[in-house]
Amino acid sequence: MELKKSRRHFIKKSALSIGALSVMPFNSLVASGCSTETKKLGIALVGLGNYSSGQLAPALLETEHCYLSAIVTGTKEKEQQWAKKYNIPKENIYNYENFDVIASNKDIDVVYVVLPNSMHAEFTIRAAKAGKHVICEKPMAISVAECEAMIKACNDNNVKLSIGYRLHFDPYHKRIINLSKENTLGTINYVNADFAFTIGDPTQWRLKKSLAGGGALMDVGVYCIQACRYSFGQEPIALRAQAFNSGNEKFKEVNETITWQMEFPDGKISNSTTSYAMSVNNLFVSAQKGKAQLMPSYGYGGIKGFINDEILEFPKFNQQAAQMDAFALNIKNNTDSIVPGEEGLKDMKVIEAIFKSLEQNGARVLI
Ligand code: NAD
Repeated sequence: MELKKSRRHFIKKSALSIGALSVMPFNSLVASGCSTETKKLGIALVGLGNYSSGQLAPALLETEHCYLSAIVTGTKEKEQQWAKKYNIPKENIYNYENFDVIASNKDIDVVYVVLPNSMHAEFTIRAAKAGKHVICEKPMAISVAECEAMIKACNDNNVKLSIGYRLHFDPYHKRIINLSKENTLGTINYVNADFAFTIGDPTQWRLKKSLAGGGALMDVGVYCIQACRYSFGQEPIALRAQAFNSGNEKFKEVNETITWQMEFPDGKISNSTTSYAMSVNNLFVSAQKGKAQLMPSYGYGGIKGFINDEILEFPKFNQQAAQMDAFALNIKNNTDSIVPGEEGLKDMKVIEAIFKSLEQNGARVLI
């Protein structure tokens, strides 16, 4: 089959057109009566691990509508390093204990929670109580009850909540999301979404139940749940799950590999595998009028794929910058995030159903 190149044009927003005003914090501009159109919102990163240092902080140098204004860390040595690298004033550096005093810091509009999964609920709720909008990393939390408490805290304190679902902003995934919206391939009948990697350091928090809440399912398995839901454009109604363990000592507390099948309305089905003991990265969609695939699918870049005879090809794109800019605009324009807390809650309901099915030896569980 001859594959045609996509003729779709993709225009990357230039980060170069930022005026001097744009580096002023949002709250200061509001206080000074300045127009809110041009200024950047201040983001505080909470937890300065790999994702913050490798992706989010560099992305915040490219964003048009927000910037890195503050940091929250439990590691003293990181304070000076980050202050110097990102020009963060001393008074905008916090730790996990004194975090709540951010309430009076006008340089902070948004708190971005990038901590181990079991700490997401606590810091989201504390940020909401401090009157700050929140982006919380995936998985939203480690239980449905926590997700509900986070949504309530944000509603009660009149702040917005968004989940770090960067792929909703990625051009490749947007094409997949649009398949069901635009009915391009007719009825979508089957989705296969697998995401797995081989985990290293056996002492890391991702392998500890109390901090991670579960194994690969809580980590990269969430991308599969997301992909199945947005490929169909529908919600699953039931599922069955199976767990596999090789006996490796690393997986004393969390599952090594989980597979699950979800039922969507009208007999449509999905199949997924997530694991910390193999390498898979794939999204396949089969429909009435053809098929689509992204492989590799879930990375920060390097995604490849096709929709029938169209090869998808987009210029280099910063998913995190697009995700954070979109949330900054939601705040400025008082609109809803396309990935609100409710989106994380839906995924957590699926995760709890998977664990319930595993407890019942793979029985069919309603979601
Ligand atoms: P990491 O281990 O690199 O960083 C975790 C940070 O939390 C570290 O700075 C650590 O010091 C701090 N921390 C505070 N209390 C801790 C404790 N009790 N135990 C361990 N660390 C503690 O992890 P990461 O890869 O940056 O992941 C952080 C969060 O971001 C996770 O929820 C993860 O799922 C999410 N994440 C999302 C993406 C994405 O693409 N959206 C990518 C990577 C990670």
